[in-house]
Amino acid sequence: MGLRVVRSLAGSLRARGVESGFATVRAGWAGVADIVFPRVCVACRGPLTDDDGFRHLCSPCGAAVARIRPPACGVCGHPFWGVVEGARTCVHCDRLAPRFGSGAAAVLLRGSARALVLELKYHGGRHVLEDMAKLARESPQIIDHVKDAVLVPVPLHPRKQRERGYNQSHLIALMLARSAGGTTCVRPLLRRIVDTVTQTAFDRKQRQANLKNAFALASGATIVSGTRYVLVDDVFTTGSTLNSCAGVLREAGAVNLDVVTFGHG
Ligand SMILES: [Zn+2]
Ligand SMILES: [Zn+2]
Repeated sequence: MGLRVVRSLAGSLRARGVESGFATVRAGWAGVADIVFPRVCVACRGPLTDDDGFRHLCSPCGAAVARIRPPACGVCGHPFWGVVEGARTCVHCDRLAPRFGSGAAAVLLRGSARALVLELKYHGGRHVLEDMAKLARESPQIIDHVKDAVLVPVPLHPRKQRERGYNQSHLIALMLARSAGGTTCVRPLLRRIVDTVTQTAFDRKQRQANLKNAFALASGATIVSGTRYVLVDDVFTTGSTLNSCAGVLREAGAVNLDVVTFGHG
């Protein structure tokens, strides 16, 4: 309990620096936080040095991140290993009837990359976004996929967002927009109207039933038919959540609609 409080305080000191936008303030906060609370690797809890490449992963854990490299499934982004011939069906999404065009992901959600996502989602670790940004920038399939699109974060229910203090998918979308540059921007066009219980214990059918009508267009949101939209979520698991969101945007008139996730679970 005590350690968790100390860790989240250190995280919030760093996060304040990260979000301030002023390099000096950021360096100042990070420096203070490092002295008072020495940084540890979010994956193995071992000590960190300035030469690790990542800011929150040690060298071995950083090297162990399972980065996705082409060729990959065009629907969910899972990599194809070995020789790829003919139709590109994928066991991870072949039972999904996607309501979006194509998908891409930066990493497989295991080991160190999983630790980054868990830190962001459940431990208030907004500071790990800088390492996620590094991984995204080093994944051309992600940057090309989001460039010059309108990024639409998968929303959290307002109750959950109040509890967490932020929507991790929104933060990932902002990070991707900054990394891709150009006219890439973030628009929270969706809202979650049903407070669905956590999805992890459900199979695909239960998830779909659970998510039926869980999302709606945000009030005042407008869809422009010529615009390319890319839904953003932290993780692709069964695709059910992204598909529900895609259905809402499709019905509102979105024609050019793709998805992107940081990880593939
Ligand atoms: Zn480590
Ligand atoms: Zn797939």
